[in-house]
Amino acid sequence: MYDSYGREVNYLRLSVTDLCDLRCVYCMPEEGVEKRLHEDMLRVEEMERIVRAAASLGITKVRITGGEPLVRRGIEEIVRRVSAVPGIRETCLTTNGQQLAEKAEALKACGLDRVNVSLDALNPALYEELTRGGSLKYTLEGIRAAIACGLTPVKINCVVLNGVNDGEIEKIALLTQSAHIHVRFLELMPIGESADWQADRQLKAEHVFRRIGRMNYEGETGNAQVWRIDGYPGTVSLIRPLSRSFCARCNRIRVTPDGFLKSCLHAAAEIPLRGLSDAQLIEAIKQGIAGKPRRHRLAEDGCSACSRRMVAIGG
Ligand code: SAM
Ligand code: SF4
Repeated sequence: MYDSYGREVNYLRLSVTDLCDLRCVYCMPEEGVEKRLHEDMLRVEEMERIVRAAASLGITKVRITGGEPLVRRGIEEIVRRVSAVPGIRETCLTTNGQQLAEKAEALKACGLDRVNVSLDALNPALYEELTRGGSLKYTLEGIRAAIACGLTPVKINCVVLNGVNDGEIEKIALLTQSAHIHVRFLELMPIGESADWQADRQLKAEHVFRRIGRMNYEGETGNAQVWRIDGYPGTVSLIRPLSRSFCARCNRIRVTPDGFLKSCLHAAAEIPLRGLSDAQLIEAIKQGIAGKPRRHRLAEDGCSACSRRMVAIGG
């Protein structure tokens, strides 16, 4: 289905929990978020019905996210049901990787195609500091397990914070020496914990270029600018939702873990999806797609329109 600005919307990001086993400094408060009542969260059957309705409108790709999707009990069943919906051609999942080593094979068997793994540092102490307690070792084991069972290519997401982990950029980019790994450096968005951070914490594209030599520019795809290091098979991308917004090519809608449709990550508007008949669900999703705003206004308004934290939407 096309929205009112002529963009084809074919990608759904389904957030299955707002809980997480880490507390990344830019995403989660140190004390975590309040645990919501079980009955306030979408059940597996409801997720499946939403995906079915979305697929009937042309959604072909689903990304399962959170919070941390691997802490959601029954994540394998969610993957199995979502990936089996007719019309869904690709089911992916974004994870911090802490529990990936033990779950990768089962997820693959349930129909998962690929994973994106968040990794902001290759220095174990810095990783632990940025995630407030995470283990780099577990995430690296998770990446290896994902590659071993064919959840590939693995995309590594690295949020760059100037003066904090920019010294890690080159080491992380060199992971693209593996044919199974692509690396994406993300600009920090002023949302949730980082809403009030100084702009100078945000990634400056030039820093990335300067730190990684031997880079050949390959062009732009969807939401990223793409490079490749001489002779390496994997790609290195830069995703800059602020300084090089990709709104004009935005093809996505989002469903929150408590069952609201958001047609823009940065807009306050939400459409409730729970308790609807199949026909009403389709109408609600149509309404959400039709009402997608032309672009976000993060640069002008900051996070004033963001009604939720990133973990409660699904980053
Ligand atoms: N827990 C999973 C993970 O960390 O991969 C999935 C959810 S997390 C919210 C999804 C992605 O959003 C992660 O790659 C994370 O680094 C990114 N993220 C969170 N807060 C962000 C922010 N303020 N700016 C940019 N990216 C952010
Ligand atoms: Fe958890 Fe992912 Fe947020 Fe880190 S970025 S606190 S892993 S939800």
